[in-house]
Amino acid sequence: MSASTATGTIGTAEPTQAAPSPYVGRFAPSPTGELHLGSLVAALGSRLEALRAGGQWLLRIEDLDTPRVLPGAESRILDQLGTLGFIHDGPLERQSAHGQRHAAALEQLRAGGHLFACACTRRQRALEQEDSGRCISDCAMRELPWSGNAVRYRMPTDPQLLCWNDRLQGMQRYDASRYRDVVVRRRDGIVAYQLAVVVDDAAAGVTDVVRGADLLDSTPWQRGLQHSLGLPSTTYAHLPLLLEADGAKLAKSRRSLPLQLAQPSATLGLGLALLRQEPPAGHVDWPVAELWDWAASHWEPARIAGLREWRLR
Ligand code: GLU
Repeated sequence: MSASTATGTIGTAEPTQAAPSPYVGRFAPSPTGELHLGSLVAALGSRLEALRAGGQWLLRIEDLDTPRVLPGAESRILDQLGTLGFIHDGPLERQSAHGQRHAAALEQLRAGGHLFACACTRRQRALEQEDSGRCISDCAMRELPWSGNAVRYRMPTDPQLLCWNDRLQGMQRYDASRYRDVVVRRRDGIVAYQLAVVVDDAAAGVTDVVRGADLLDSTPWQRGLQHSLGLPSTTYAHLPLLLEADGAKLAKSRRSLPLQLAQPSATLGLGLALLRQEPPAGHVDWPVAELWDWAASHWEPARIAGLREWRLR
């Protein structure tokens, strides 16, 4: 299956004869706006890692946060990826199609005693100057109804879940006091990113998560959820995060740094340069497929190892 769009086609890779690699990676953009330079870096890094491993690279649209979904953003993202020569394996997935498995995961967590309803509001937390997002009162003791309240996951205390060897950022250790109860189902009934991402990665057989370093802090929750749901743990590699000159995070919803598609090889080359690869002089005139061949055979992730962020000038 492939998704055709006005200016580009995201195809499905041809099956190969070689034994399949167990590596399954993915790119999982939220359709809250079009891709910017930072998302290009995440897409490029995750696909190049999958190509290096001879594995698969899946594409999933994370469209659960409906109030933030921008009409037309999904097709624009598919256009951008297609024009830039990205080719994904398997069918295009949308998280919104998987409500049943999200609900089943919530039920499994509830039955295991991992959840509680929480009535703390954002305003209350602001008043308490509490920005960690955790429950600030004794909601866990009050057995509140789920309806009209957020549902939180009690993070297990096993220190192994708070520490892992990130394939790019090295050994990570997080403080248990920061990782207590995260929202897995919002007050408005929407299943939260932390749970959906874990469930959908596992359902797709994802083995290796490569994404921006802005999601490093989410990883302990996701490792906890994998553990509590009895799902295999994935490896993680967090790519350096691109910041605006003033230090602000690039955001699709703020339309930061739109991607220039008139010269796709120039844009791809810029993404590669941001990943500290050195595409040869003249690459801007190459067809994108040729630049992809070059990138796949010259990809050196060691060049960005330990690099957490950098600012655009
Ligand atoms: N949907 C998330 C985003 O667009 C990425 C999730 C992930 O890679 O785990 O930022």
